[in-house]
Amino acid sequence: MLGAIETGGTKFVCAIGDEKGNIAERIQIPTTEPGETLAKVIAFFQQHRLDALGIGSFGPVDVNRDSQTYGYITSTPKTAWRNYPLIQTLKEAFPVPIGFNTDVNAAALGEITHGAARGLDSCLYITVGTGIGAGAVLQGKLLQGLSHPEMGHILVRRHPDDHYQGKCPFHHDCLEGLAAGPSIEERWGDKVINLADRREVWDLEGYYLAQALMQYILILSPKRIILGGGVMNQKQVFTSIYTYLEDFLNDYVSLPKISDYIVSPGLGNDAGITGSLILAYQAWEEANQ
Ligand code: ADP
Ligand code: ZN
Repeated sequence: MLGAIETGGTKFVCAIGDEKGNIAERIQIPTTEPGETLAKVIAFFQQHRLDALGIGSFGPVDVNRDSQTYGYITSTPKTAWRNYPLIQTLKEAFPVPIGFNTDVNAAALGEITHGAARGLDSCLYITVGTGIGAGAVLQGKLLQGLSHPEMGHILVRRHPDDHYQGKCPFHHDCLEGLAAGPSIEERWGDKVINLADRREVWDLEGYYLAQALMQYILILSPKRIILGGGVMNQKQVFTSIYTYLEDFLNDYVSLPKISDYIVSPGLGNDAGITGSLILAYQAWEEANQ
């Protein structure tokens, strides 16, 4: 029996399931302060006899197993969670193998195993929501170096007509600062949902996301790109991305048909939790080989 947790800034999703991505039971717990949130998470899993646990977490997190602070949430803007020992706390409650990675890495793993990139050995999963983040699988493995990549914070070229200052607390006008949900709302002064019919909003969004995708394609050359997160519910962003990306790339690299290459998640909102089940399975396999 595998347990999975997808931690987010607004909610924790906890599930029981198997490595095929079948979910037998799940709950959602609102993200409040860490002690209270984890108490509820632990109470849920104590009803089950777990063989392993997998966690896909909001971050940044320390995923370096040799580090003293492995399993900590590190420099998050959510101050109550800064330097919080997430894995250590769970390990005390559940002495089972624990797999741990970022939420977007978990989603990439879910999508390549059971979703829109099934059958491929590389993909990139990007979320455009409260923040922007991406996880990559290359040659069948999650991309990790010194730490996990932070592809949402790359710099992009500003649109000459865009004078919005940007919302990233660290870099102001990085990609996340210019194109995540909260920055769209601040720039245009309305809820994203109410901006659905404003063409210029989605044109600009596509302009920034296409630049980011161009850089990811040129550096990583993924075989498929999956775009999830709340903002991507606005399907017109895909059209705008396709147009700008073809313009920016200018046929320099040959890609599959763009609408087959840049797609929505095959697992919908379950990419992260499914990938977390796989992280649990991988941890179990490693402990039992
Ligand atoms: P999170 O990033 O916190 O996990 P989401 O991926 O749902 O959560 O992203 C939340 C952001 O997505 C908010 O900024 C919200 O405005 C935006 N959003 C949510 N639903 C939609 C929608 N249907 N259309 C456009 N934007 C949306
Ligand atoms: Zn930033």
